[in-house]
Amino acid sequence: NKVIELRSRPVGEPTLSDFNFEETEKPTASDGEILLKTEYVSVDPYLRGRMSDADSYVEPFELDKPISSAIVAKVVSSKNKRFDEGDYITAELDWKEYQLSDGKNVRKIDPNAAPLSANLGILGMTGITAYIGLTEIGQLKEGETLVVSGAAGAVGSVVGQIGKIKGCHVVGIAGSDEKIELLKSKFGFDEGINYKKTEAMGEAIAQASPDGVDVYFDNVAGRISDGVYQNMADFGRIVNCGAIALYNATEMPTGPRVEPMLIKKRVSMQGFIVGDHQDKFTEAVKQLGKWLGEGQLEYSETVVEGFENIPQAFLDLFEGKNKGKMIVKV
Ligand code: NDP
Repeated sequence: NKVIELRSRPVGEPTLSDFNFEETEKPTASDGEILLKTEYVSVDPYLRGRMSDADSYVEPFELDKPISSAIVAKVVSSKNKRFDEGDYITAELDWKEYQLSDGKNVRKIDPNAAPLSANLGILGMTGITAYIGLTEIGQLKEGETLVVSGAAGAVGSVVGQIGKIKGCHVVGIAGSDEKIELLKSKFGFDEGINYKKTEAMGEAIAQASPDGVDVYFDNVAGRISDGVYQNMADFGRIVNCGAIALYNATEMPTGPRVEPMLIKKRVSMQGFIVGDHQDKFTEAVKQLGKWLGEGQLEYSETVVEGFENIPQAFLDLFEGKNKGKMIVKV
C-alpha cells in the first residue's frame, strides 16, 4: 500500500526530494468504517501553501505525515450502513492507495452522471471556484469586458466560458501559443495573450480590451496583474482568486502602486476563498451541470497515470504543463 508524505517544507520551488514515498500494510475495515481504493487524485496549486508552515486559512501539512487533497475513490469493502461495496465517493483524503474512512465528510457520487474525474474539476472545487468567484465576487454583468489570468487552467477556463455565456467580451492570459489557441477554439474566448511572449502586458491588454476591464479574475498575480491594473474601467472589480506567480517566492516582489488607480476608477479588489461559500455549492454544481448538459460548457483535463507520479504532477502545475484540470489516475 503506497503512501506519499511531506518530507520537508519546500523553500522556493518544491522538488521531488520534498516528498517521502512509503509502503505500509493495506488496512481492513472495522465496524462503522469503509475501505477506500484511490482512483483519481486532484493536485492543486493551493497545496503549495499547506506545505509551508506560514499562518494561513488552512492548517499546514505535518512533516512525515501523508499529504491530502480531493480524491475520487471506490468503496472496496464496507462496514458502514451508508455505503455499499462498489460505491464511488469523493472527499479530502490522504495520498494513499488504500485507506479507511468513518464516512464523515465523504460524499457519494453517481458514476453515470459524469465521468468520475469531473468531480475533481468542472463539477468539483475548481468549477465551483470559477462560478462563485465570478458571480458572487466579480458580479459580472452582461456585455462587460472580462479578463482572466491562468486562463487555460482548471479555474480560468471555466471563468472565461461563464463570461461568454453571460454575453461578455472575454480576454484570456496564458503561457503558450497552444493554450491561446485552445482558449479561442475550444472555450470560445474572444482574445488571448501569451504572457511569455509579451513584454508590455499593459499595452497588450489595452489592445484586447478597448473599453477597459470591468472584471479582472486573477489566478496568478505579479507582472501579469500589473498590466491589467493599468486598464481597469470605472467601477471595475478585481477578484483575487489565486497568486501562483508568487507561491514560490522567497521574498515578495514589489509592484507599481495601484491606490490612485483604485480611487480614480472606483475599482474594488476582493480576495476570496471558495470554502467560505459552502452555502452556494449546491447551486454552483447544479448550474455547471446544466450548462455541461446543454453543451454550453466544455472542459479539459490533463491526466497523469500512476500513483507515484502525484508529486511530479503537482510540480508540473508550476511549469504550466496542464491544460484544464491536472489529475492523477491511479
Ligand atoms: P491551474 O489549472 O490554473 O494550474 C496552474 C496554472 O498556473 C498552470 O497551468 C500555469 O499555466 C499557471 N502558472 C504557473 N506558474 C505561473 C506563473 N509564474 N505565472 C503565471 N502563470 C503561472 O490551477 P487551478 O485552476 O487549480 O488554480 C488557479 C489559481 O486559482 C491558483 O492560483 C489557485 O491557487 C487558485 N485557487 C483559489 C481558490 C480560492 O478559493 N481562492 C480555489 C481554487 C484555486 P500557464 O501555462 O498559463 O503559465
